[in-house]
Amino acid sequence: MDLSPFQNLIDELKSKKMIVWKNKKKSEIYQIDSALIDDAEGRLKRFAPYFQEVFPETKKQDGKVESVLQSVPVMQQKLGVKGKLYVKRDDALPISGSIKARGGIHEVLYAAEKIAMEHRFVSLEDNYKIFTTKPIQKLLSQYTIVVGSTGNLGLSIGIMSATLGFKVNVHMSHDAKEWKKQLLRKIGVTVVEHSGDFSLAVDAGRKEALKDPNSYFIDDEHSKQLFAGYAVAGRRLKQQLQEENIAVDANHPLYVYIPCGVGGGPGGVTYGLKESFGENVHGYFVEPTESPCMLLGMATGLHDKIAVQDIGLSNLTIADGLAVG
Ligand SMILES: *Cc1c(COP(=O)(O)O)cnc(C)c1O
Repeated sequence: MDLSPFQNLIDELKSKKMIVWKNKKKSEIYQIDSALIDDAEGRLKRFAPYFQEVFPETKKQDGKVESVLQSVPVMQQKLGVKGKLYVKRDDALPISGSIKARGGIHEVLYAAEKIAMEHRFVSLEDNYKIFTTKPIQKLLSQYTIVVGSTGNLGLSIGIMSATLGFKVNVHMSHDAKEWKKQLLRKIGVTVVEHSGDFSLAVDAGRKEALKDPNSYFIDDEHSKQLFAGYAVAGRRLKQQLQEENIAVDANHPLYVYIPCGVGGGPGGVTYGLKESFGENVHGYFVEPTESPCMLLGMATGLHDKIAVQDIGLSNLTIADGLAVG
């Protein structure tokens, strides 16, 4: 590949300075598939009664898996940020404590609902508490959910799948934390450890799932249902801002900085934010200086055909969930 047109940018990335890159191809003309978000939002609502049963910590939010919006005045002052600064505490999301509790959990629910409906165990009108009952658990136990992960997606999908009765195999990359593997094994999840990075773990999962017709692979690099689950965050944030009487309009633009690994989480969330706020929201993806895969892929137009290792970066980072090369 000829990277010479991008040499200046690549030199900057190699120097591991913090930089900002703006996408010049960004357009204000775009189409949002609201039906995709409606569908995910509806599914999460249907499962809310079930969540209250199996995850009591979601009771106070009526079975919703949502995080608080926290004002951070001291941080705002130290950073010298104008306007108002908030932290959206997805680190404190119920069940699995990361943004993956949005997309990952949604896709497992999608798979469970689809299988249960195909076998006529459930219809849209039912109270989804029915998913706690033995016949459905037994049905789902004949299926295996497979996923590759740096840790947090495995945690979300492992917990949700095991709770529903699925068998579940999680392929973990080398950077996955020990406690996450231990927790998953304790609840009956099969954890396969790999010495390679994220993409290798995903590939291993994809290959395994192809061999078994009763397995369902959750693809962190391509899945629409993950993306849809993340996108629901836009409507949720809109509601929270309204409740706090915080205006977002042409005079009060919203700037959102989202940690970025493979890009599905921040991509889905930004998609949802665009649906809710249009041109008044501005999304920034934030990556470790050793793992700027999204920046490199978008700036060169090579997307997943280029890796940070190709320009001499290590893809080693302590930043949780962001070691994607
Ligand atoms: C996965 C993850 C992200 C980024 O999501 P991607 O879809 O990989 O871009 C950010 N923060 C945390 C804690 C994560 O687990």
